[in-house]
Amino acid sequence: MGLFGKIGEGLRKTRDNFQRQIQQITRAFTKIDEDFFEGLEEVLIMSDVGVHTAGAICEHLRQRVKEQGITDPAAIEEELKEVIAGMLEGDDSLHLGTQPSVILVIGVNGVGKTTTIGKLAAYLSGQGKRVLLAAADTFRAAAIDQLGIWAERAGAEMVRHTEGSDPAAVVYDAIAAGKARGVDVIICDTAGRLHTKKNLMDELAKIRRVIDRELPDADKETLLVLDATTGQNALNQAKQFKEAAGLTGLVLTKLDGTARGGVVIGIKEELGIPIKFVGVGEQVDDLQPFDPKAFAEGLFAKGEET
Ligand code: GDP
Repeated sequence: MGLFGKIGEGLRKTRDNFQRQIQQITRAFTKIDEDFFEGLEEVLIMSDVGVHTAGAICEHLRQRVKEQGITDPAAIEEELKEVIAGMLEGDDSLHLGTQPSVILVIGVNGVGKTTTIGKLAAYLSGQGKRVLLAAADTFRAAAIDQLGIWAERAGAEMVRHTEGSDPAAVVYDAIAAGKARGVDVIICDTAGRLHTKKNLMDELAKIRRVIDRELPDADKETLLVLDATTGQNALNQAKQFKEAAGLTGLVLTKLDGTARGGVVIGIKEELGIPIKFVGVGEQVDDLQPFDPKAFAEGLFAKGEET
């Protein structure tokens, strides 16, 4: 792995695209004026940052340019990097102080939820924690089996029922087992699709009630997994789940598969929910704790590390 590590590698497609366009703009202008900002805003929108967030970034930049008397368009890259890192800052660590603590993982099918749970289990096991998975996506037998494979790979235990059984009952049993065995972290998978959206939201609410009742004082995280390759659609999903699910953090997957990683900035800016992890590949160690500075660096760093 090169100089910028996995996040730099995972952002390669985004960076190639982004940097080329930023350079085109900075080279095309000899001074920083309104036309320059308009061009820059367009580049940001094209990188899937989102219209609202592109405007906000340019507003921050205008202020910096004015305050610091910057006149050279080439100097804007460094400023942009700092503005983006600043916007991405938040409470990006997991709060898992109690034994047990609980992570509820939600998200629609296909976003990489199972893979993320597996990687997360391996990450926590690697820190010496005892991890138990609750296979509470009982809607599909394949989901339970898939999670079982990841549990093995990650050195985690798992509580499962048969397909079609009550997900809240799986979570209940997992908590009882977790308490009895002295587990550190219980990670609950959930269904990504049910017959209707209302069914899904009701089911999530029921699972949460069980967790709150059985572990009233435990540390709890509710993480929404989003597929970064779906761009603005990921933002819409986040908005829907935010209303219903009391999210504490986001995981953006498949950053390695998209040139539109700018969506990460838009999602953080518009929702105000911290990004806690990013997925940059399919392997067990391809989940990275989110680091705003490394992310911003990764957007601009040259591609020579590959
Ligand atoms: P689920 O339906 O949400 O549980 O999704 P899965 O965990 O089964 O993942 C769907 C597909 O996305 C699988 O082929 C995964 O290998 C792939 N995937 C998950 N995370 C990543 C990632 O960070 N990068 C890449 N390239 N692929 C990923």
